[in-house]
Amino acid sequence: MILHLKANVSEAELERLSQKYKAIHFKLYGTDILVTPSKTKVIEEKDQDYIGQSWVMESDIQLANKNYLPEIRKIKISDQISIGGDSKNTLMITGPCSIESESQIEESCSLLNHLNVKVLRAGCFKPRTSPYTFQGMGLEGLKLLRKVGDKYGLKIISEVKDASHVTDVLSYVDIVQIGAKAMYDQGILKACSKSTKPILIKRGFGSTLQEFVQAAEFVLSGGNPNVMLCERGIRTFETKTRFTLDLCGVAYLKEYTNLPIILDPSHAMGYSYGVADLTRACMAMGVDGLLIETHPTPKEALSDASQQLNHQEFTDLYHSLSSIAQSIGRKLV
Ligand code: PEP
Ligand code: MN
Repeated sequence: MILHLKANVSEAELERLSQKYKAIHFKLYGTDILVTPSKTKVIEEKDQDYIGQSWVMESDIQLANKNYLPEIRKIKISDQISIGGDSKNTLMITGPCSIESESQIEESCSLLNHLNVKVLRAGCFKPRTSPYTFQGMGLEGLKLLRKVGDKYGLKIISEVKDASHVTDVLSYVDIVQIGAKAMYDQGILKACSKSTKPILIKRGFGSTLQEFVQAAEFVLSGGNPNVMLCERGIRTFETKTRFTLDLCGVAYLKEYTNLPIILDPSHAMGYSYGVADLTRACMAMGVDGLLIETHPTPKEALSDASQQLNHQEFTDLYHSLSSIAQSIGRKLV
């Protein structure tokens, strides 16, 4: 149950109500909000005076629920760009899997600059499956990403893989990516909930949709309303592709949640040959953003080499997307 309290409820009453209803409390745009685990409307008569509006949810998908906020949450990316709300925008996010050097990221920026793409993504703290592979440039990479991003007037997004560097990532980037393997990390989720920066949560490849949205609830219920969900493929019995992009799941999320949805066909496919077709299919679904990995020289990439598009491939793909966007009443931004 979600309770919006009336204005001017005293601290003491707030504390009493939180304890009594076992609620999480946060304040958003001046309103005190309590979220309780209750699935029925159990508010004692004498407490009614403190409560403005209330919503009862059938599951622990509460703040992300369309029954609470029927519109997709509007998230401001820059002064010029928002997604969700009534924007009908689909945000293009691109860049290499990992930042590897200043010259590499400069080349990536010139691609974005040329196509007028505004959000650069590159990983600095890489959640690799093997300890013997490139682990990312870490803090040095983060500083470099900020430097070149600023030089080209780009917004930057980078991932956090564990709680040890979440504060650094939060302070350098414009959008925080919580990687698929980190989706359950409470330290990360809670730290991100205390920021107001947009948070992109990737779905764990073995996570149900319920678990995925519940991860988002940790961020929302800590007071950060700016959460996006990113479907990046789940593990199935199939081995010919790296993962299986769950577009049925995306249809579910669009129907039942109020969170903007970003699709990542690069990690789902795992091979560059399939990324363009898959991206066009994602665009046609009418989602709020696309995340595509690009690299100046994919074969030499230090991580995810097989799936990154070279700059010509990305340019061709990018040009093919606007007519699809237009045909479904959306705009690629
Ligand atoms: C990535 O975005 O480069 C990445 C490691 O993705 P995921 O967390 O989806 O595996
Ligand atoms: Mn990657």
